[in-house]
Amino acid sequence: MDPFVAIALFVRRALTLGLGTAVGLAAGVAVVLLPADGWRSPAGTLVAGALACSLSWRVYRRFGRIDPSKSVRREVEIAAHVVPLVYGVVQLSPGGFTGQWHALTYLMMMSIAAFFASPAAAGALTLSIAHELAIAHRMNLDLALVAVHAGLLVVFAVLNWVVFRGEIRRVRRLSKQHLEGELLRIKQAARDYRLTGVPRSAADGAADGVMAPPGDEERLLRSSLDHLQASLRFVLSLLRHNLGARTAALYWLGADGQKLTLREASSAVEELAKGPFSTKEGLFAAALSSGQAVSLHLDRARGRMPLYGEQTACGGVTAIAVTGLSGQSGVLLLEFAPGFRVPDHAPSLLSDAAEYMSATVENERLFLALQRAKTEQGKLYQAADRLAEARSEAAVIRAGVESARQFASFDFAAVTLHHRSDDTHEICAVSGSGAEDLVGQVFSSNTGLVSMVVTNQHPLPYRGEYHRSRHVVFSGELPLPDLPSLIILPLKVHDSVLGTLVLGSESRGAFGESVRPTLEVLARHVAVSLANARLVKRLEDLATTDGLTQLLNKRALIEIGRQKIRSAQRFDKPLSVIVGDIDHFKRVNDEYGHDVGDVVIKGFADVLRRTKRSTDAVARFGGEEFVIVCEETDQEGARLLAERVRSELAAVNFHTPQGTLSVTCSLGVATLPGAGTEWDTLFKATDEALYVSKRGGRNRVTVWAPKMRGAA
Ligand code: GH3
Ligand code: MG
Ligand code: MG
Repeated sequence: MDPFVAIALFVRRALTLGLGTAVGLAAGVAVVLLPADGWRSPAGTLVAGALACSLSWRVYRRFGRIDPSKSVRREVEIAAHVVPLVYGVVQLSPGGFTGQWHALTYLMMMSIAAFFASPAAAGALTLSIAHELAIAHRMNLDLALVAVHAGLLVVFAVLNWVVFRGEIRRVRRLSKQHLEGELLRIKQAARDYRLTGVPRSAADGAADGVMAPPGDEERLLRSSLDHLQASLRFVLSLLRHNLGARTAALYWLGADGQKLTLREASSAVEELAKGPFSTKEGLFAAALSSGQAVSLHLDRARGRMPLYGEQTACGGVTAIAVTGLSGQSGVLLLEFAPGFRVPDHAPSLLSDAAEYMSATVENERLFLALQRAKTEQGKLYQAADRLAEARSEAAVIRAGVESARQFASFDFAAVTLHHRSDDTHEICAVSGSGAEDLVGQVFSSNTGLVSMVVTNQHPLPYRGEYHRSRHVVFSGELPLPDLPSLIILPLKVHDSVLGTLVLGSESRGAFGESVRPTLEVLARHVAVSLANARLVKRLEDLATTDGLTQLLNKRALIEIGRQKIRSAQRFDKPLSVIVGDIDHFKRVNDEYGHDVGDVVIKGFADVLRRTKRSTDAVARFGGEEFVIVCEETDQEGARLLAERVRSELAAVNFHTPQGTLSVTCSLGVATLPGAGTEWDTLFKATDEALYVSKRGGRNRVTVWAPKMRGAA
């Protein structure tokens, strides 16, 4: 980098980093230097105005969360602004620096120490003490006063730093615990009502207690759950009040179907026992096995039900199983206080309520499933859009991996491409720490999972479970990080597999049945986009490449030549063009046949390929005529290159059925700007020089000179 550019960049960086603090410090100097009444002067107003503007800007940047990564720096800057501002205000106050308004400085110190980052608090304290000293010096005040002020500032800073921060930490911890408890409650309820068992990767995790559902999913689940619980509680409360029951409660079956736990209740008693209760005993067993409402009148026997925390006498109970589409899901129960009987019409009402509750839960499940399917579909459309925009193979791979993140959370991703020509697999992209070395690795088809997926065209491993000791993913020499979950999806177009998308996760069960179908659809999109990108590349290659030699064709070279000439002229750099033509090539064709002629043309192309530099552009211009455009090459450099081409071709022996054959070539060289400043004139000049080479006896190099103009 140019040293001036480096210095300019450094100054700019230093200014952006230190400008805020510098403005604050400068204002501080002004506060100290200006006499107390000088604040009312135009200069003082200007300083105060500038300080207030600068402070507002920084407060907006900090608390508007424009760039959260810079919050500490912003707080230091804000502190550097606030200190002079407060000292300025104190000086303007009725009692001045020694008056009662000085207490404002302690208030400021308390606030900064409590709410700002430690560097900002330390900076504010230092700056405040500096202000104290300087103002006291200017006003010829007793140093003892400064010592008292400084001491109090330190006390306020330290006390608030310790006490307030501790309190803030405690409140934060409590609110975090509260949030976690709330999340756990949602998860438990969602799991009980089986609201999570629909296609959605992260929600699966939530159901297994592996991870929290992401934002949208959590919101959806929460609102659905709130709605469901409100409906259920409403029914319970209606039942209780209409039938004069003491408690109306809904008990829900656990995943194993063996235990019932209290889910919702409406009761006159505060503490209800939550369970779990066995489904094999008592009223619950009877309700679950009979299929209709079961009632017990316990009044005379002073019967007791274990529904309450302590042993409470009970008048009667009636219960019915709640049955959904997939079988029994819970028990609805009404309990009456001693002295109250189960009304005769209670069982039929209970049965209707149980049906209603079951339908409500089913509805909510259906609603969630539809919502999720809609979201999923939207994401698939987005992924398809993103993939359609990707033009190159690399862009498709990037877009594919990024899109996969929308559907499953993973810690490792790789894309392999299968090269059919030699039956090898190449790892083209890897995302995940510690696995970067895998990029570019090639392995032959083997019994590993990737090879098997390509051969069988089906995702592996079974159930998405990976066991490092049992499975080889790429090859024995290329181990994968140890991950409990893995899925390898074929990138399949029609009947061929272009490669695989490999996803791995540190969470168990990350690629269960709920995510697999979506990932398979995504993999198909990726495969189609990959095939398209390849087609586009092939068409581009065909349009710019010569079929026999794989060098550029005439059209492509003229375009590149024109560009290079423009850029050479703009940056005042040399550029040369060389044209070469095989001598007496017709004779080769006539004596050895066209096929041998083709071999010779390819041989010439090989010579040019290995002689040119990476920045040179080489093309077959037609027949056995080739052109090189040499960037940053003057006339002498181009002549030397042409000479090397000439001697190298002459040294090549072509082995033919009619014996060994060697050929020579003639070359012409022209250089910018003497021979021309446009492609057409420059190329014409090389042709004229080539003509001179041919006329001069062939097998030679000629550099264009003005006298050759019009020779060809
Ligand atoms: P000179 O030394 O003057 O260049 O003589 P020459 O015989 O090489 O003459 P010229 O360059 O005009 O000959 C071009 C010949 O190249 C004519 C054509 O038969 C042959 N040719 C053009 N394209 C191909 C090709 O793709 N393959 C083969 N085998 N021959 C080609
Ligand atoms: Mg020729
Ligand atoms: Mg020719």
